[in-house]
Amino acid sequence: MIPAAFDYVRARDVDDAIRLLREHGDDASVLAGGQSLIPLMKLRFAAPAVVIDIGGIDGLAGVRHGAGRFALGALTTHATLATDPALRERAPALADAARELGDPQVRNRGTAGGSCAHNDPAADYPAVMLALDASFALTGSHGRRTVAAADFFLPMFETTLAAGELLTGIDFDDAPFSAYAKFHHPASGYAVVGAAAALRLRAGAIVDARVALTGAGFGAFRAYAVESALRGCATDDAGALRAACVNAAAGQELRGDAFASAGYRAAMAGVFVERAVVRALARSRLP
Ligand SMILES: Cc1cc2nc3c(=O)[nH]c(=O)nc-3n(C[C@H](O)[C@H](O)[C@H](O)COP(=O)(O)OP(=O)(O)OC[C@H]3O[C@@H](n4cnc5c(N)ncnc54)[C@H](O)[C@@H]3O)c2cc1C
Repeated sequence: MIPAAFDYVRARDVDDAIRLLREHGDDASVLAGGQSLIPLMKLRFAAPAVVIDIGGIDGLAGVRHGAGRFALGALTTHATLATDPALRERAPALADAARELGDPQVRNRGTAGGSCAHNDPAADYPAVMLALDASFALTGSHGRRTVAAADFFLPMFETTLAAGELLTGIDFDDAPFSAYAKFHHPASGYAVVGAAAALRLRAGAIVDARVALTGAGFGAFRAYAVESALRGCATDDAGALRAACVNAAAGQELRGDAFASAGYRAAMAGVFVERAVVRALARSRLP
């Protein structure tokens, strides 16, 4: 449980981090909250020669909200996301996920950007970001580019982040009728199945839905068949809502392990998607 020897450098700002990444190339890893990288280094699954700490960069942390849109700095901690009042009211799926993630130390140190960049197939945020249709700001020596969540997350710990790029921010629109529901692994606390739903409602019916799952497969994915089945459902028709959600993982290749077979994950996908939808609908009934 002792990492291999490495050099440690603190980046002063984003430009400095990008310069350091260019200088050290594949030998370097970025350190944000350290809640995934440090355990991997201790297990020697990762052995970077240089660790570039971005944790002290000013202006990369915090939740900003204006004109119906959120802008998160990549270094915003899970604890901030769990408690931010605007987020809890206007995009509660993300606050739900942050509240259910890890333990107090992980929530106080770990960051939104680190979690998304790491893209663990059982991580909570990838499903939420897909359901929120978030945009990711990636900054490198070429400048800044924006990538939709649907293009950012690739299977199994991969993303579209290129060598030398930093994830600097995440943006998404208000989604007040959104929720996340999670089946925690009893040992690790990660998602055996996690479901995020973001709904648009009009006159007692669902007019649009984005639904995404994590934990079940080899990466987070949208449940498009559920989304189309939900469109037009009356918000008080429990039978129709259940029927729309039941085959949430149909057509996806699912993971199986000693704790949960692929078939069990498929069954739980329907259950937890329905829970997320019901929780999102309950928010539309709040005074
Ligand atoms: C005990 C424990 C329980 C946990 N439980 C859960 C859980 O239930 N659900 C869950 O989703 N997660 C869980 N996690 C993981 C946690 O969410 C981490 O905080 C997260 O995965 C990584 O964020 P970080 O800021 O700690 O990143 P780090 O560990 O510092 O970095 C992770 C990876 O992302 C890269 N990276 C970090 N920031 C950036 C950036 N801005 N741009 C480009 N690359 C970057 C790093 O180079 C590294 O490869 C748990 C972790 C622990 C230790």
